[in-house]
Amino acid sequence: MKLFPIRGGIHPAYRKQATAEKAIVALLPLPARLYLPLQQHMGAAAEALVQPGDRVKKGQLLGRGVGPVSAAVHAPTSGRIAQVAELTAPHPSGLPQLTIVLEPDGQDEWAELAPPIADPFAADPKAIKERVAQAGIVGMGGATFPSSVKLDLGTRLKLEILLLNGAECEPYLTCDDRVMREHPSEVIDGARIMAHALGAPRIVIAIERNKPQALDAMRLAASAFPAIEVVDVPVQYPMGSERHLTQAITGQETPARKLTADLGVVVHNVATARAVHHAVRFGRPLLSRVVTVSGGAVKEPKNVEAPLGTPVADLIDFCGGLSETPKRLVSGGPMMGQPLPSSEVPVVKGTSGILALTTAEANERPTQPCIRCGTCVTICPCGLVPVEMAAHIRKDDLDGAAAWGVMDCVSCGSCSYICPSYIPLVHYFNYAKGRITAQDRERRKQDEVKRLAEARAARLEKQAQAKREAAARKAQAESPAP
Ligand code: SF4
Ligand code: SF4
Repeated sequence: MKLFPIRGGIHPAYRKQATAEKAIVALLPLPARLYLPLQQHMGAAAEALVQPGDRVKKGQLLGRGVGPVSAAVHAPTSGRIAQVAELTAPHPSGLPQLTIVLEPDGQDEWAELAPPIADPFAADPKAIKERVAQAGIVGMGGATFPSSVKLDLGTRLKLEILLLNGAECEPYLTCDDRVMREHPSEVIDGARIMAHALGAPRIVIAIERNKPQALDAMRLAASAFPAIEVVDVPVQYPMGSERHLTQAITGQETPARKLTADLGVVVHNVATARAVHHAVRFGRPLLSRVVTVSGGAVKEPKNVEAPLGTPVADLIDFCGGLSETPKRLVSGGPMMGQPLPSSEVPVVKGTSGILALTTAEANERPTQPCIRCGTCVTICPCGLVPVEMAAHIRKDDLDGAAAWGVMDCVSCGSCSYICPSYIPLVHYFNYAKGRITAQDRERRKQDEVKRLAEARAARLEKQAQAKREAAARKAQAESPAP
């Protein structure tokens, strides 16, 4: 298959060797408490359906998705609900979130699950989407967008390709690599089901060339299906970004503020495909995920199948504990991951990795003045000018930063990584994007308030006018004839 080059990019130290050969192991025994935030996804938080004291079974619905973009939350095991409260520490964002606290009872007793969809390829695509929604599946590469909403794109766009993202270009992470090596048939089946739901005739599975075993396993599992192509893509960060992977496969650049789906391509992560397989074939909701636990401060790095809600501290203990106090604790990869406020936060649906980085690995150095070397411009995969955007943001000129395209930044962190002056450029851009988004939201809200006020004033004026006209007619009728 012909591949197309992507602009810029970098080659960070990949450091995957610590876990690449570690088979997935289940976290046992289960933690004493699981912390399940009702907001583990993009969109509206789920609504709690349980109360403290309730006994629940494995797979039982604990939180119902609310509105068009939301995701359900289920019990990863059986036990007793200890708390339903707004907790601060147990969320990766560090912000207060309504959280269900579950104390496992050790029985691991299943609830009655939805029946398998006997022949998913003969089923109405709507039934597949409903099942994926019921199962609470979200993008497991870290984006956490509800997958059922993404599977609905085929109803309004003509789709050509389901692009399965197995690039895993972030350093340290090997969870997708292991899922593809150990469960290739499940991933392929999930991909075929998703392509059916989307109405996409082709499936392309893109894997970076540094995962030869995953490529072999996936090629073997896909060999019976002519509509599937397994493609090895160059090792180049950020190849795993949806837009760049789409460009590498199709040669087309996704225009600013558009989706890859506008080009006929829908991208899903390989772990998401596996979760879809479980939901459709066995009625199993999303209860756990594979997490790479790594970094120089972890004694025994591993790939762990961890129940959602597992505190990071328990996960690290399962990996032999820490050999030293980490300089940085990160959820996800070191390039795009979130620094964690503490090890009390739980594994959520988008947690691909937990990294405990040493001082040497964190490589935090004092920021120096910009030397105008232009390296950040050369490597930006989105063709942006980071040095100019940062200059505007430093002056609090958000409009200026927006004019230089800050909203098109995919937050890959390549510019920060490469900058010889150690300027945390991506932090500036994330801050600016957050503020611009909030301002847009506020502007839209004010526009809506203004529109409603104007509509109300117009309605009242119409009623007053009708009253005046009625009064005039009455007065005319009652006035004595000349
Ligand atoms: S890479 Fe750093 S030092 Fe070089 S131009 Fe960009 S911001 Fe300035
Ligand atoms: S973080 Fe944004 S500006 Fe920096 S290299 Fe990535 S896309 Fe470009």
